[in-house]
Amino acid sequence: MDYKKFERHMPYCLECGDLIRYGRTDKRFCCDDCKSKYHNEQAKKGRLYRNKVNALIRKNYEILDLLVHEGIDSADLGEMLLRGFTPTVMTSCHRSGRHHVYGCYDIKYRMTEAKVYSVMKLKNL
Ligand SMILES: [Zn+2]
Repeated sequence: MDYKKFERHMPYCLECGDLIRYGRTDKRFCCDDCKSKYHNEQAKKGRLYRNKVNALIRKNYEILDLLVHEGIDSADLGEMLLRGFTPTVMTSCHRSGRHHVYGCYDIKYRMTEAKVYSVMKLKNL
């Protein structure tokens, strides 16, 4: 019997890469330790990613909130980027007529490739 050919069709453990020699054909881990290690790592990656996005949203809010406090409703996008604004991160987006209205929590704004405008904070939440 050609064992090498047989082994090629056997799955490898997603965590350690060892060959899974027995069990169900759809088994993905060689043991329970590898299974929990893998799932813990996936959960950690998810947490880190969410924390990173939350930090970007917080930074955007700081920048937009400063504009609102200064009574400025329009700003150059280039300057916003220099301050650390991330235009691809927002908490809401909806279409209003021909334009999109973006949201960072209670602050709404419109945006083109050149500027952020109509920046306003919602009242009476
Ligand atoms: Zn393993």
